[in-house]
Amino acid sequence: MLIDTHAHLTDVKYGGAREIIDNMEADGLERIISVGFNEFSSAYSVKLAEENEKIFAAVGVHPSDANEVGQGYIGALAELCSSPKCVAIGEIGLDYHYEDTDKRAQRRILTRQLELVREMDLPAVFHVRDAYGDFYDIIKEYSQCLTSGAVMHCFSGSKETALLYAEMGYYISFSGSITFKNSRAGEIIEALPLDKILIETDCPYLAPVPHRGEINYPKYVRFQAEKIAETRGMAVEEIIEITKNNAYRAFPKLR
Ligand SMILES: [Zn+2]
Repeated sequence: MLIDTHAHLTDVKYGGAREIIDNMEADGLERIISVGFNEFSSAYSVKLAEENEKIFAAVGVHPSDANEVGQGYIGALAELCSSPKCVAIGEIGLDYHYEDTDKRAQRRILTRQLELVREMDLPAVFHVRDAYGDFYDIIKEYSQCLTSGAVMHCFSGSKETALLYAEMGYYISFSGSITFKNSRAGEIIEALPLDKILIETDCPYLAPVPHRGEINYPKYVRFQAEKIAETRGMAVEEIIEITKNNAYRAFPKLR
């Protein structure tokens, strides 16, 4: 059975995600982590998780929402973290991809949420894009906040960066982008220790080949397992089993 460790079930395209949740068994899905990116989607993810046995939540404010945060966002997130179904704080991080990003605001909400990670003693789910240098500096300074581990979601960095984080004990999570023709993830997948690899969809975005360009769904996480199996010369069922066990280790409350 598969685990999608990073899905946005709160997206309007899914209209409440009833169909996805009802079909989990038939689709071979054991667990889905619905990930928040602002206060609303975090609360909504926890609600979905509390109402559905096999759904779990991560709560946090995404760097692209850094300028939208309200006064009480940390208190609101802290309250959501206390749900038995909230397995992580995320997605949080830095995203310098677009020119108009307010880097200072991004760093401010990241460090504030890293303090929350320490208070709540939960793993962190990191979104990092075109900002690996600054991100690394912050993580070094706040390393005492990260005693429950971390996941580099939708990893897009270099092989050296991936190995560096794996050595620090972080998990490296791969989305549908590893199935794209121009992907350079192959050499990273070959080099990483198998016990540090996670798979995810980041749906509704980044649908894998052969669904590229369409709406993405949690069940498509299987294509990431197939790609990794092909790259490592292993059976897909073996990769599904290994990444599933990794997910349960990375997120202890997912049990
Ligand atoms: Zn995401």
